Amino acid sequence: MTFQSLGLIEVLLKAVRLQGYETPSPIQQKAIPPILEGLDVLASAQTGTGKTAGFTLPMLQILAKNPVPHRRPVRALVLTPTRELADQVYTNVKHYSKFLDLRAAVIFGGVNQNPQIKHLRNGVDILVATPGRLIDLENQGHLSLSKVEIFVLDEADRMLDMGFKRDIDKIRSLIPSRRQNLMFSATFSREIKSLAQTILLRPTLVEATPENTTVEAIKQEVYRVAKEKKTNLLIKLIKDGQWKQVLVFTRTKHGANNLCKKLESARISAMAIHGNKSQGARTKALAGFKNHDVRVLVATDIAARGLDIPLLPHVVNYELPNIPEDYVHRIGRTGRAGANGVALSLVCAEETSYLTSIEKLTKQRFKKEIVEGFEPDPNASTVPPKQGGGRQRRGARPSNKRQGSAGGGGNRSNNYRRR
Ligand code: ADP
Ligand code: MG
Repeated sequence: MTFQSLGLIEVLLKAVRLQGYETPSPIQQKAIPPILEGLDVLASAQTGTGKTAGFTLPMLQILAKNPVPHRRPVRALVLTPTRELADQVYTNVKHYSKFLDLRAAVIFGGVNQNPQIKHLRNGVDILVATPGRLIDLENQGHLSLSKVEIFVLDEADRMLDMGFKRDIDKIRSLIPSRRQNLMFSATFSREIKSLAQTILLRPTLVEATPENTTVEAIKQEVYRVAKEKKTNLLIKLIKDGQWKQVLVFTRTKHGANNLCKKLESARISAMAIHGNKSQGARTKALAGFKNHDVRVLVATDIAARGLDIPLLPHVVNYELPNIPEDYVHRIGRTGRAGANGVALSLVCAEETSYLTSIEKLTKQRFKKEIVEGFEPDPNASTVPPKQGGGRQRRGARPSNKRQGSAGGGGNRSNNYRRR
């Protein structure tokens, strides 16, 4: 299978070659042809499987085949949940459109809007945006979405997790009802299918990785440990193993900050990435981690999903997620692109039920190890920690909406046409 056989034009093939890609990933093989045909597509594949190119390449081809309209109105709109993701998609768009006469811009909140407005004023064909800033600039009259032909929702599951449903509805009311819709997601939950029903028209469904399976290239290890010994065990593992680049997950932002401080006092450079951090701090942390200035990146689930950090040798669950699907996403950060990786979980007594849920979901039983000097506390309670108003288990939310299969019905729901 080659990119050429997917029907991509030479200028895109050239750009792809420059990126060093040899063969299209499974999700690219499945998603690119129907998108090129102009169909609505709902695609799901694990994080790190190349979804961005999966929609960007055919999107660029469609735009490039039509003449550029006068004044360059926005013809393709890509929504992403976070600034980092918007930036990543924008970078991808820039790379792949290198040999095309297309202009792109990225807008997101948390930074001065004026440079963004200036950029938009010259006309852009492709706009990558987070919902808040997009609605903001539209309200102020700095951009029009009335000529959008292709509408892409990237990381759609995370959009829902982050509560962007209303914003998405609002944005849909600003774009023409006749358009091509693409929705990309790491998971295929009922909520995703129901959102797809309101946005996509007779979508083609493509799925590349079976849900909730963990990649074989990833070695998974579980350590039983007393809660208060976790930090020291992590420090020991990092130092003894001489790990150079570790992604560590905590359940809370507070936990992420705390752990960072303790690692720093053990002279292990660490930075946290989570929703409360400023844009500058998050960009700095991510950049530092990528170029090896920062040895440990401590992240919460929401902050980490979708981030493109290639080839991570070590992922540590400092705390297990209360949503078992998140475990699959977390460990998907290692063993990417064929490289082997180790995903390691530090589990204390109160996380026992989380571990059981993960074993059930991933259909495996872990061998539980204990490191001498870091034994679990036999008297500790096994009652799970309280969830401080955070995320709920997916699928547990009450919904009175009719749940339908995204693939079947051809009905365009009423609110689809809402303007
Ligand atoms: P996803 O959106 O599925 O999480 P990304 O689009 O961020 O994944 O891609 C993950 C990484 O894989 C990126 O670094 C990207 O450059 C790389 N990549 C994408 N497609 C290919 C390919 N066909 N061959 C090799 N690497 C690829
Ligand atoms: Mg992505």
